[in-house]
Amino acid sequence: MKIFRLAGIQMTLDESEESLAAKVSGALATSLVNIASIEIIRKAIDARRNKPPHFVYVVEVRVPASVNLPAKFNDGITLQEVKDEPQAPLNVTFHLPKLPVVVIGSGPAGLFAAYVLAQRKIPVILLERGTPVEERIKDVQAFWEEGVLNSQSNVLFGEGGAGTFSDGKLTSRTKNPYSSWIKKVLVEMGAPEIILTEAKPHIGTDRLRKVIINLRRKLIEMGCEIRFSAHVTDFVISHGAVSTLIINEKEEIKTGQVILAVGQSADDTYLRLFEQGVKMEAKPFAIGLRVEHPQELINAIQYGQWRNHPQLPPAEYFVTAALPALNRSVYTFCMCPGGEVIGCGNASGVVITNGMSNSRRNGEFGNSAVVVNVREDDFVENDYPLSGLNFRRRWEHQAFLMGGSNYSAPAQKLIDFLQNKQSGFIGRTSFRPAVRHSLLAEALPEFVTQALRLGINAFDKKMPGFITEDAHLIGVETRTSSPVRICRREDGQSESVEGIYPCGEGAGYAGGIISSALDGIKAAENVINNMA
Ligand SMILES: Cc1cc2nc3c(=O)[nH]c(=O)nc-3n(C[C@H](O)[C@H](O)[C@H](O)COP(=O)(O)OP(=O)(O)OC[C@H]3O[C@@H](n4cnc5c(N)ncnc54)[C@H](O)[C@@H]3O)c2cc1C
Repeated sequence: MKIFRLAGIQMTLDESEESLAAKVSGALATSLVNIASIEIIRKAIDARRNKPPHFVYVVEVRVPASVNLPAKFNDGITLQEVKDEPQAPLNVTFHLPKLPVVVIGSGPAGLFAAYVLAQRKIPVILLERGTPVEERIKDVQAFWEEGVLNSQSNVLFGEGGAGTFSDGKLTSRTKNPYSSWIKKVLVEMGAPEIILTEAKPHIGTDRLRKVIINLRRKLIEMGCEIRFSAHVTDFVISHGAVSTLIINEKEEIKTGQVILAVGQSADDTYLRLFEQGVKMEAKPFAIGLRVEHPQELINAIQYGQWRNHPQLPPAEYFVTAALPALNRSVYTFCMCPGGEVIGCGNASGVVITNGMSNSRRNGEFGNSAVVVNVREDDFVENDYPLSGLNFRRRWEHQAFLMGGSNYSAPAQKLIDFLQNKQSGFIGRTSFRPAVRHSLLAEALPEFVTQALRLGINAFDKKMPGFITEDAHLIGVETRTSSPVRICRREDGQSESVEGIYPCGEGAGYAGGIISSALDGIKAAENVINNMA
């Protein structure tokens, strides 16, 4: 039997998946009896304007080796024989360490690093400064509803990491065979099976929270010790290697191997590591605002006359605009169809926006970050590698003041922002606790507002109707990626301190749920390789 990957099979919105087999046999010019099995690998919607939206499939087909298949195909169809891909991470023999490996941070990077270690029966302790999901939900609700901030348990800190209150998009630009392994683990933990085949899978915060709880139970069952409210406040370094971690400023944990998966928002941890000689450098990132439209309007722009077709999900978009005259680019990021714009403060005196949706994405609005690239020369002062943290904090504090110093966010109608006009009117938004009408040009550096205005005008040419009376902007969006990179060697360890394996978004090598989880797996593999 041979396995082939057949890509580019098209189905109309009204065709049932039952007719997929016939389409496949037609495309392969072979009888249905010659097809032993068909597995859907990916299903995408092609909703490019000026033609009816339709589904495009990638399938894996098993056929007997004796069957002759065509050498050439029409209509964008391709066929490729499938070679064996690794199904699960690394298989090497290694010596068990005398001390446990400690993973700091229970975001995607830390959870998957711990999973890989526990799976190999390596003693592992997972430390998380925040609370378990059940408690965290209450803390986050108190913040959104009453503006009461818990600086250790919030949208950025706590079990599951920064993505627990998110849209749970599982897209990643990296082509890595472990991506599908991660999704399979998530399905075992309760995520919907459809994430295995959808081209743009998402889980939704409502289901993701349950998945994280199941993942915790599984890790404990595999022997991983998990400790919440365990804030790593210091690192003892002796002879150039980590030897001890200090928890909550008093308790000591001895270890020789630390997977550092603390995300991009632990400014205190970055600072302590820097003071302890862990080598870091500034890196570019992006800042801007959240734009929110009625979801119906996005559906109309993207799907046109087919906008109410029951087979079509709430529409997404991704738009970019290069601005060579300014040497900047503007792009949308992390679009949440049918979602909410949420406040993500993790420290007093800041307002930070982001987006979240439920699995059904059935909210009234669709939102997206719209951001401008920020280079090191925009913010680095005195060669200080952590300058980016101060830079973003400055604008987040400015947003806090403009919002009224109570965690309400500054907001403006999109049209007014483009004209720098104070109309005094915003309209309804999804943001809680509230928004306050502001001149958003004052919430960001001038080069960012200038680029945003030009970029948004360019978006409107690509997505006519993007600029509308019904859209508004909420600020500020600063946590697109880390402004710091923790430098690491080929073998995954810190360039300057042995035994520290920086990974995930906070290390500056990943961004997003899947890519951070992949980086966590890589860190665990590096630890295992270094024990071989
Ligand atoms: C609201 C929101 C929506 C998002 N939506 C999506 C999306 O739909 N799809 C997507 O791909 N990405 C999304 N992202 C980005 C994604 O969540 C991150 O890229 C990802 O979570 C990074 O994973 P990580 O494990 O590297 O770090 P994090 O998820 O940030 O986890 C780090 C963890 O470390 C803990 N920690 C920090 N310091 C310490 C310490 N000193 N001691 C102990 N614990 C510590 C923190 O509490 C935190 O739980 C979203 C982010 C946010 C904020």
